[in-house]
Amino acid sequence: MQADYLVIGAGPAGLAAAGFIAKAGSTVAVFDGRARPENVSGSYPVVLNDKGLFALKRLDPAIAAKAKETGLSVQQLHVISDNTTVRKIPMFGICIMRDQVSSWLLEAAEADEKISFFWEHKLESIDFQARTCTFELPDGSQKTAVSQRLVAADGNRSKVRRLCQEHVADFSADADPWPFQLRFMNSRGVPGQTEVNTDTHFVLGDKGYVCLKPSGEWSIYLRVQPESDEEFLTSMEATDDNLQKLKEYVQTHAKFAADNLLDEEAYRKFYDCEAFGGVVVKCSSLSPAGWICLIGAAAHAVQPALLEGPWP
Ligand SMILES: Cc1cc2nc3c(=O)[nH]c(=O)nc-3n(C[C@H](O)[C@H](O)[C@H](O)COP(=O)(O)OP(=O)(O)OC[C@H]3O[C@@H](n4cnc5c(N)ncnc54)[C@H](O)[C@@H]3O)c2cc1C
Repeated sequence: MQADYLVIGAGPAGLAAAGFIAKAGSTVAVFDGRARPENVSGSYPVVLNDKGLFALKRLDPAIAAKAKETGLSVQQLHVISDNTTVRKIPMFGICIMRDQVSSWLLEAAEADEKISFFWEHKLESIDFQARTCTFELPDGSQKTAVSQRLVAADGNRSKVRRLCQEHVADFSADADPWPFQLRFMNSRGVPGQTEVNTDTHFVLGDKGYVCLKPSGEWSIYLRVQPESDEEFLTSMEATDDNLQKLKEYVQTHAKFAADNLLDEEAYRKFYDCEAFGGVVVKCSSLSPAGWICLIGAAAHAVQPALLEGPWP
């Protein structure tokens, strides 16, 4: 298998990179450890900022137009601490589901004859001298691909980055787990509520985040610390006691959400939600070994919500 460029990872960063490379006239082979994603609804909302929208427009104006049409305009970010709004920050962004924009990028890439896809190909090793990558397939067999250029878009736990740390002398990287995890609640909101602006995102201090999704559901996520938080935040059991304490907690930190957005079902579903963890990534260089380029979350990942990120 040979192409001008190999891209590892078919998330938003890898797909956008493949599109730009093909646009510049080169061939690209994209590898992902997962099967081709079919479901675009099972992800989380992200905010496409002006840099992200500009990049999408340069890649494919039709995708940027779809994002604007389908996504929700975000005009303000409110920072709320213990039920008091401490800052109102004007912002420009499009709130969109991460997998929705990925699916448009994927459809466009699949229609481009310069781009080929290899799903269920998990990168296992790199030969830095021969410039080859070896992948493991679901049946346990291996496949090797060769290229002069490698784009690492394999996410915040990037295998490419870890291999570079081991084998590239002057490259170093930090990948520190977030000191918390996230648990999500989704709710349609109290019918007819007008108290909570739909074009505003809310950072609940260090407690969580609230925003409206393009589906019309509100997404409320809470930060939890599995080692040290109280049981009502870390448990998987929707007991009466846990539910009562969870409601009191939301009343204390986000009364607007408790009064206008959350219903009984949403609180209950909190206990079905596995906690979700992330990593903060910093690299000493974005082009280790000269022929590799780290992009997206493989190159730089932050804690939500700090108003920065590699998107798209
Ligand atoms: C609640 C929440 C909100 C967020 N909001 C924002 C936001 O507003 N703005 C923002 O910029 N970011 C946001 N993020 C972060 C966001 O998830 C990332 O920015 C984005 O997904 C990074 O895209 P990526 O393509 O770099 O990596 P990923 O989306 O992680 O894709 C990596 C791909 O690489 C594949 N892969 C991994 N390892 C291998 C391997 N060994 N071999 C082959 N394939 C492999 C994976 O299967 C995956 O498809 C948010 C995250 C969360 C949890």
